[in-house]
Amino acid sequence: MRLLIVEDERKIAVYVKRGLEEQGYAVDTAFTGREALDWVETVAYDIIVLDLLLPELDGISVCRELRMRGLRAPILMLTARDSIDDRVAGLDAGADDYLVKPFALRELLARLRALTRRAADVSRSAIIQMADLSLDTLTHRVRRAGRLIELTAKEYAVLECLMREPERVLSRTVIAEHVWNYDTFNQSNIVDVYIRNLRRKIDDGWEIKLIHTIRGAGYRLSAEDQTC
Ligand code: CA
Repeated sequence: MRLLIVEDERKIAVYVKRGLEEQGYAVDTAFTGREALDWVETVAYDIIVLDLLLPELDGISVCRELRMRGLRAPILMLTARDSIDDRVAGLDAGADDYLVKPFALRELLARLRALTRRAADVSRSAIIQMADLSLDTLTHRVRRAGRLIELTAKEYAVLECLMREPERVLSRTVIAEHVWNYDTFNQSNIVDVYIRNLRRKIDDGWEIKLIHTIRGAGYRLSAEDQTC
């Protein structure tokens, strides 16, 4: 999950970024509304956390602009006070939910999970299944044939990315964009390293391999034996 935080108070931005990264999110930060618009132009975010009070361009205007540009990713608005006017304005501008500051990180995480669940429209089921491999997007538990597999936060994120689009070939860039932020993104072999770890944990010892390398293109998750 790639996420953008738009927040001019650097202390809060850094605190939230760290908390989300610990949960396996890839996080970029923008400190102004204009910066946020630039980021969204170049990166396909899964979710955006947008502060209402920003210098120059405020959160409401940013939100409205993003929706006008056709952005469909969920937007969570942060408001400084519990004012009904602010909340209504945010929702009217195209935000999907809001959170009043100060907030507990735990609540932010829960709201983000709820928003991504809704966005994915997985008919209220948090479990993604692929052959005998299952992934619980709520608890981040992964099982193969019922057996629990221990993954690091980033390994989980790479696997989730593949499992959300089974049978599709995902390029290294697409995977990296969803899992890492801009700073780590340019280490070109980082995806390969994580895929190697995932193979060891998920496919080693099983007759049917699920992770497939498509030469020159990327990776595909599939239960079918494939050599091309
Ligand atoms: Ca602010």
